[in-house]
Amino acid sequence: MNAQATRDNKIQMKPPAPVEYSGLAHCPMCTHTVQAVVLASGKAVRVKPGQKCPRCSGTLDAAYVLRFDRAA
Ligand SMILES: [Zn+2]
Repeated sequence: MNAQATRDNKIQMKPPAPVEYSGLAHCPMCTHTVQAVVLASGKAVRVKPGQKCPRCSGTLDAAYVLRFDRAA
């Protein structure tokens, strides 16, 4: 966590809440690109845990995020 937040306690330091987007992930099981829900937390982007590949029913936890549509 950010240690500087303790000093500026008056300022509301919101934790970077992950935002969900729809995106494309590369399934490591069937090596296909599939639609997935993507969590973007700051600069970190990852596949939302607990999803299954619509093609092979494999877990997408380890899938690579290829693209996600950030809502404006
Ligand atoms: Zn798959």
